[in-house]
Amino acid sequence: MDFSHVPVLFEETISSLRVKPDGVYVDCTAGGGGHALAVADRLSPEGRLIAIDRDPDAISHLRQKFAGRENVILIHDNYLNIKTVLNTLGFPGADGILADLGVSSYQLDAAERGFSFHLEAPLDMRMSKEGKSAYDVVNTYGEADLRRILYAYGEEKFAPGIAKKIVAAREKKPIESTLELAEIIKSGMPAKARREGGHPARRSFQAIRIEVNGELENLSQAVENMFDALNVGGVLSVITFHSLEDRTVKTQFKAFATGCICPPEFPVCCCGRTPRGKLCGKPVTAGEAELEINPRARSARLRSIEKLK
Ligand code: SAH
Repeated sequence: MDFSHVPVLFEETISSLRVKPDGVYVDCTAGGGGHALAVADRLSPEGRLIAIDRDPDAISHLRQKFAGRENVILIHDNYLNIKTVLNTLGFPGADGILADLGVSSYQLDAAERGFSFHLEAPLDMRMSKEGKSAYDVVNTYGEADLRRILYAYGEEKFAPGIAKKIVAAREKKPIESTLELAEIIKSGMPAKARREGGHPARRSFQAIRIEVNGELENLSQAVENMFDALNVGGVLSVITFHSLEDRTVKTQFKAFATGCICPPEFPVCCCGRTPRGKLCGKPVTAGEAELEINPRARSARLRSIEKLK
């Protein structure tokens, strides 16, 4: 399988991390290793890059890519566990942490993983290859839950019609493949909507993938854990790909950067709270040149925060 994955916002992300040659860095979503390689290239033999991914295929690929690099440590885990990972390795904290959220190009392009609405495959979509799959979600969730997921995680306005069609189809036989599901999704949308704005199943597939992998459920906690895992002066950079993810990261970062939370009518501060972090400028989005070569960058947004205490 080809593991090519063009990293998004590449220069901006690497420079946001302010890599010091002897520092400790964590790539929480190492994937194809594009961002990770650029960090590793900036490290001395004393520096360390801890590259995490929950996908066992990504880790096997990274093992080859980073063979012989003694300052790179590969970890197959969920980034939610970043603090335990650092503890176990004996590092008190990291000087820079990156999370490039969502799904990678190689996951989308590997037909057998079942992420793509273009490629025929059994319904899977599990990044970690464990736990409930897209087959389970589509064939066992009640109609109301399906509707909620399509609305909430796909911002799919035709969620009611699509959920109804899914339930009707599976009463005849289980829904087994990606293309079968894509057709059912299309049949739940008005004809005009099927022809507008990209592939009609895109939003629903995104929603089901987010549910299968619990991508939003734990994001707040994960961002909190990443921020906790930073050394003072270290930077956390997060790249998001849709508005729900971005809202979560934005809210968390704002909370870290907020000091006093006393009601405005208080004459003096009683809470004694001071900011734990400082936002590093405005969120960064891709420029024209990048959009031309990498459509995945279309909705990418990079936010960075420095830890003050
Ligand atoms: N920056 C990478 C691409 C990242 S794509 C590059 O330059 O190649 C996102 C990756 O994050 C995928 O490989 C996916 O398996 C991984 N991932 C998603 N959620 C995760 C989680 N909760 N814990 C660990 N890895 C995760």
